[in-house]
Amino acid sequence: MTSMRDPRYDILFTPVQIGPVTARNRFFQVPHCNGMGHAMPLAHAAMREMKAEGGWAVVSTEECEIHPSSDLTPYVEARLWDDRDIPALALMCDKVHAHGALAAVELSHNGPTASNLYSREVLIGPSHQPSKYGYPSQARAMTLKDIGEYRRWHREAALRAKRAGMDIIYVYAAHDLSLPMHFLQRRRNHRSDAYGGSLENRVRLLREVLQDTREAVGDRCAVALRFATEELLGPEGIELSEAQDIVGLIAELPDLWDVNVAAWYNDSVPSRFAAEGAQEPFVSFVKKVTTKPVVGVGRFTSPDTMVSQIRRGVIDLIGAARPSIADPFLPRKIEEGRIDDIRECIGCNICVSGDMTISPIRCTQNPTMGEEWRKGWHPERLPPRREASRVLVVGGGPAGLEAARALGQRGYEVSLAEARRELGGRVTREARLPGLAEWVRVRDWRVGQIGKLPNVSVYLDSPLSAQDVLDFGAEHVVLATGCHWRRDGFGRSNGLGIEGLDSHPSVFTPDDLMDGRLPSGRVAVFDDDGFYYASVAADLLHQHGCTVTYVTPEDSVAPWSVNTLDYRHIRKRMAKQGVDVRVSYTIVRFDGAVLTLENSWDGTILEQPCDAIVTVTARLPDDALYQSLLSREPEWADAGIRSLRCIGDAEAPGLIAHAVYAGHRYARELEEPASGEVAFKRHFHAEHPQDV
Ligand code: ADP
Ligand code: SF4
Repeated sequence: MTSMRDPRYDILFTPVQIGPVTARNRFFQVPHCNGMGHAMPLAHAAMREMKAEGGWAVVSTEECEIHPSSDLTPYVEARLWDDRDIPALALMCDKVHAHGALAAVELSHNGPTASNLYSREVLIGPSHQPSKYGYPSQARAMTLKDIGEYRRWHREAALRAKRAGMDIIYVYAAHDLSLPMHFLQRRRNHRSDAYGGSLENRVRLLREVLQDTREAVGDRCAVALRFATEELLGPEGIELSEAQDIVGLIAELPDLWDVNVAAWYNDSVPSRFAAEGAQEPFVSFVKKVTTKPVVGVGRFTSPDTMVSQIRRGVIDLIGAARPSIADPFLPRKIEEGRIDDIRECIGCNICVSGDMTISPIRCTQNPTMGEEWRKGWHPERLPPRREASRVLVVGGGPAGLEAARALGQRGYEVSLAEARRELGGRVTREARLPGLAEWVRVRDWRVGQIGKLPNVSVYLDSPLSAQDVLDFGAEHVVLATGCHWRRDGFGRSNGLGIEGLDSHPSVFTPDDLMDGRLPSGRVAVFDDDGFYYASVAADLLHQHGCTVTYVTPEDSVAPWSVNTLDYRHIRKRMAKQGVDVRVSYTIVRFDGAVLTLENSWDGTILEQPCDAIVTVTARLPDDALYQSLLSREPEWADAGIRSLRCIGDAEAPGLIAHAVYAGHRYARELEEPASGEVAFKRHFHAEHPQDV
């Protein structure tokens, strides 16, 4: 395609020299976890290939273990323990090179922050200290001989990476996850030899490893340093002032500086807690100290922000993990002048949960993420329809919108009917809650795409009945009618519900809050859901002037939010807002004036004055239309209906990511041959060579 690029964005497409290699533009997919890693090399390589095809000049692995003494089990990252690990990464390099991009590997030895659950090696660290993951064991202090061995492992891994075809080899000193960083940290390094004490001594190992790597592979490969400039831990951690001294000491040693804030929860902050470009104050000094190119991250999705970062001398290369996950074709879309087509990351961190739950990466905005090899799904291309059928989509939430968009792209004649006066369903409603504004991008991207498809018609203000559907005359009908929150207390912890809640006028649900019906006074939010809703409700009520108590039968606040890196931010915000937190309690009674709680473990009863409660427990599908149409199946043939499906929250309430995926899958599979009991390709060991 001829380039229709806006000249304002030209600077994003100028090449950047990185040591002996050249990035063809300034788009740099920085290392990111994906839950596939060494266990699923084909799926991993196909996912990275998509980034290269989409125009990223550099495509990196996730952390890459260099030795069995840094085994990260159960997390599945990349691995280069010995030569047998080379082919898996060579596969990725070949696929990335095929599209003219550079491949980068993030070599890592995690010392006391490894687990060694698989290798059973003893953990090592700068000094004796408790482990962070794995068993509650300790890491032993490394001897000088150990340090020499570690340097040898790193050098050998760099050579293997070069043989695999890597163009950029990372030394990793970020996220509190690697030995060169642990040696920098006073809280982890209590040594009194040449590797401890003064800053010069604590920097020694990092300096040596950078030099080792250059000597080993620097003739052909660039040496990058991923470096944390701030840990936000006060004097316990690396602080900006110390980071400035460190960068000063080794400014010209790496070919590329990749800088960010540690730990991961301060780096990949959900949009609820940090805006685009939030790391600038912590990393902007680096370019003033070094002549080498600098890459930084900030959930950059706006080309104007990217240009501004470069023009103002903050960074040279636009680093991205999440924006490249939500839209692997982001660079190409800017290049082709298709800014409106960019599928912007919403900052929900469902992608992070893949790594956390040790399963293939998923993305709310990009339902093809992680499915490139498993299902052969391409983020931009869908197979054309087989027949000229008409499809009626009922419900314009994330499931219905994505189904209509993808069906439209396949060439179907699509009608989308939505009961309300606005599209977006839960996304529109949730995005009005505190901190969730960016989530509306799930709607906006799809509405924008649908607007370009003449074969998709949208009908607002159109609540359809079963008779309406039968009268419509579509061959295929898909119902994406959503769900609603229960009021009766039923949930994980109360299988029989909570007596009296259902009919009480002072009991509210998230739907009430989203409809603008808010309680006042002393309000208890009851969280039996464990993810974001209850803390968002607490936020909203706090803003509204309520005195908020948060109650959960779980032993911690919003336990599932650990998987999206929300947890610590939620706890801090609640503490700041003075939310009264009661963990390990369930509600036994509420009479409109007094709330009676029972401790989950000892049965202790607690009573407190309370004006209203908000129950965040479970949801029920809005599937009345589906049930009604099912009961009228004998009439389908006369109405011309060949298939009827119910998808998304109307089938089984879940995350927005589930609804988008359901809509996409429906559109992909319509009129296609069935794929059998297992709907995706799997990895098998070499004993089953037909599948590897
Ligand atoms: P999902 O997450 O599965 O997409 P949502 O709750 O976000 O579900 O969206 C469901 C949408 O369906 C809502 O916008 C709702 O107004 C709409 N809807 C529900 N029932 C009907 C109906 N009978 N006719 C048309 N639209 C409907
Ligand atoms: Fe962005 Fe959410 Fe997708 Fe992650 S899952 S890339 S945060 S939209």
